[in-house]
Amino acid sequence: MTYLDHAATTRVLPQVIQRMSEVMVQTGNASSLHKSGREARKTVEIAREQVADALHCLPSEVIFTAGGTESDNLAVKGLYWLRHNSDPRRTRILTSAIEHHAVLDPLVWLDESEGAEVEWIEVDSLGRINLEALKASIEKDPESVALVSVMWANNEVGTIQPIHEIVEIAHQYSIPVHSDAVQVVGWLPIDFAASGIDALTLSGHKIGGPMGVGALLLRREFKPVPVLHGGGQEREVRSGTLATHLIAGLGIAVEDAVAHQAERAERITALRNSLIERVLANVPAAHLNGDLVNRLPGNAHFSFEGCEGDALLMLLDAAGVESSTGSACTAGIPQPSHVLLAMGVPVSTAVGSLRFSLGSSSVEADVDALIDVLPGVVERAQRAGKTARSS
Ligand code: PLP
Repeated sequence: MTYLDHAATTRVLPQVIQRMSEVMVQTGNASSLHKSGREARKTVEIAREQVADALHCLPSEVIFTAGGTESDNLAVKGLYWLRHNSDPRRTRILTSAIEHHAVLDPLVWLDESEGAEVEWIEVDSLGRINLEALKASIEKDPESVALVSVMWANNEVGTIQPIHEIVEIAHQYSIPVHSDAVQVVGWLPIDFAASGIDALTLSGHKIGGPMGVGALLLRREFKPVPVLHGGGQEREVRSGTLATHLIAGLGIAVEDAVAHQAERAERITALRNSLIERVLANVPAAHLNGDLVNRLPGNAHFSFEGCEGDALLMLLDAAGVESSTGSACTAGIPQPSHVLLAMGVPVSTAVGSLRFSLGSSSVEADVDALIDVLPGVVERAQRAGKTARSS
């Protein structure tokens, strides 16, 4: 199989597996005071320092979680409650219209159940947030804004947001900023201290670490209201026995992702550009979505006129190439992606979209394999689409 879905998850690094295997056979709870507990604690603290050194934050700013979804929930719910509790006028949350569901759904919940008012800031046709609209929305009534949450880069179309400008605008009014950087670690340089971001989400399984572990980098001055109540293991903000082996794996994965970031980004950008050029040259129905310049190195996202994304995905899968539509499917009916709709892509085009995402292990042969089968697959999907429409 040719794997072109690294943005969904990617290969676990051999050194991560090695370290996790060593840790898994050790008994010990990092909260226990005896020798085995102290050993487990040491494992966790080494990983915390690896994450902190790689991403330029303090070890005490690293809160280990069960992954990107939990980090996003903790950031947006916890910071909303914190800010709203300290000043009830703060009810507004400003966000982009193209967030991942791990941010979008908690925000919809806060809006529907917790009295928050979420404002979805528009993006342009390339998926870039409208900074003027963000500014205008804040300036309407800065005192009422609890939080700004904008992803650093989009998981579907790969568009990179002007996160530093976003932070600058929000901080003029002392409004905290959360950013989902799940797709960014290992692809763009991250300096948490210099970025000014107040809370940053990352996930292990997107960078060669294990599934089920992630972190929220959180500035010391914030104590969000917890989402999980219990032992308070992580700064009294996150409860649950620390998953020592997963955390050890995450530490190594973050270190590796950052150590090879520049060289990986350069190589994969060139490979991705070759993929885009070859798809556009070989498939007349293909249209590239997103921003070619401000784009994650591994992302190529296309719409194929006259096709359904799910049909394309299944035909490609049968031909040995794995990809993703990036959008949800409700009761078997393909739904157009909210990201593409927010970018102004018509529904009929949006439903015919596919994402190809490259990772560290991707090579030109993967692109060759795609180009070998894609023109035939698109033709078949177009024929299937025509038949479905005429019947
Ligand atoms: N945020 C973004 C941008 C993602 O791409 C993902 C995963 O697809 C998540 C959050 C969720 O992360 P996790 O799978 O670790 O819960």
